[in-house]
Amino acid sequence: MNNFAYMRARDIADAVRQVASDPAARFIAGGTNLIDLMKENVTRPSRLIDITHLPLDKIEETPDGGLRIGALVANSDLAYHPQIEAHYPLLASAILAGASPQLRNMASTGGNLLQRTRCFYFYDTTTPCNKREPGTGCSAIDGINRMHAILGTSEHCIATHPSDMCVALAALEARVLATGTGGERSIAFADFHRLPGDRPEIDSNLAPDEIITAIELPPKGFATNYTYLKIRDRLSYAFGLISIAVGLDIDGGTIKEARLALGGVAHKPWRDRDAEAQLGGAPATEESFLRAAETALRGARGFGHNDFKIELARRGIVRALAQAARGTSQSQSDKRIE
Ligand SMILES: Cc1cc2nc3c(=O)[nH]c(=O)nc-3n(C[C@H](O)[C@H](O)[C@H](O)COP(=O)(O)OP(=O)(O)OC[C@H]3O[C@@H](n4cnc5c(N)ncnc54)[C@H](O)[C@@H]3O)c2cc1C
Ligand code: SF4
Repeated sequence: MNNFAYMRARDIADAVRQVASDPAARFIAGGTNLIDLMKENVTRPSRLIDITHLPLDKIEETPDGGLRIGALVANSDLAYHPQIEAHYPLLASAILAGASPQLRNMASTGGNLLQRTRCFYFYDTTTPCNKREPGTGCSAIDGINRMHAILGTSEHCIATHPSDMCVALAALEARVLATGTGGERSIAFADFHRLPGDRPEIDSNLAPDEIITAIELPPKGFATNYTYLKIRDRLSYAFGLISIAVGLDIDGGTIKEARLALGGVAHKPWRDRDAEAQLGGAPATEESFLRAAETALRGARGFGHNDFKIELARRGIVRALAQAARGTSQSQSDKRIE
């Protein structure tokens, strides 16, 4: 066990001051990812800054008709919130497709964004891993890479971002609100997470002295024609092999606007604007869906064990678009678990 200090942040300014003064300090929210990483000796923080008492647990309407979700809102409270169920069912569906009821009760909105990859080499400290120890190499590229990325990879890392919730947030064009020593800023969701490039150890564009305070959803929630389709090895309690978030705005069989984001395929939730543009103005037919899938996967590359993901993603995109167009969102994971 590594020694670490434990502090409780008094307010947001105090949280920022504490994290800015110690590069090895980490915030702790639900702890469902951070504590596991500490137990596995993957992360060794000098101190934990407990943010769970900060007033960041509200869901409020914004002046433009959207919603602001505090960074400490639990995943389950978010999924079952009446406004989310009614106006952003894509987000509710994605959250309920992840983890287990117990984990969702603990996991926070901010922590979900910053959960780390599930690459097993990242967790296995006896193997080289550029994300865990920069410059040591990537064990997955020539190793067991069944869960790994097919888009946006680099020669340094082929890990995926594991979140379900973030795939829906990407499709909904959420924004991340953060506060640091330089003040507050709002980050477009597409710019929040990073591709690995030659710095795979950095997952996001959040600065080391910043805390996530909230997520903002724009008014449009695609509540009629949406789907979150997650394909995994078991029906529950498993990370996705691939997932697809779709929101469609359809008028008389023609798609007016489309949102398409993929999970389990890249180092960040993968949104393809070319595929979306292709769907805009097109008839809601299988032919249009197939064309969009081909566009979304045009740069896809497998690494051996994960080659199957390219065809799986192609079929998954077509199925998710068809489900959304029909207005039949998903299956069991949509159902409320009491
Ligand atoms: C067995 C298991 C199965 C799972 N299955 C799934 C799944 O299928 N789908 C899925 O999406 N997820 C899954 N998860 C992951 C789970 O959703 C995340 O662990 C959880 O969302 C993290 O939230 P947390 O509040 O517990 O974060 P913590 O563990 O407290 O923190 C995670 C990271 O975020 C940082 N952090 C937390 N809050 C803030 C903030 N406000 N500002 C800045 N930094 C912050 C912490 O410093 C830490 O680095 C699973 C987890 C487990 C253990
Ligand atoms: S894919 Fe990334 S996280 Fe996994 S071993 Fe390679 S460098 Fe590490």
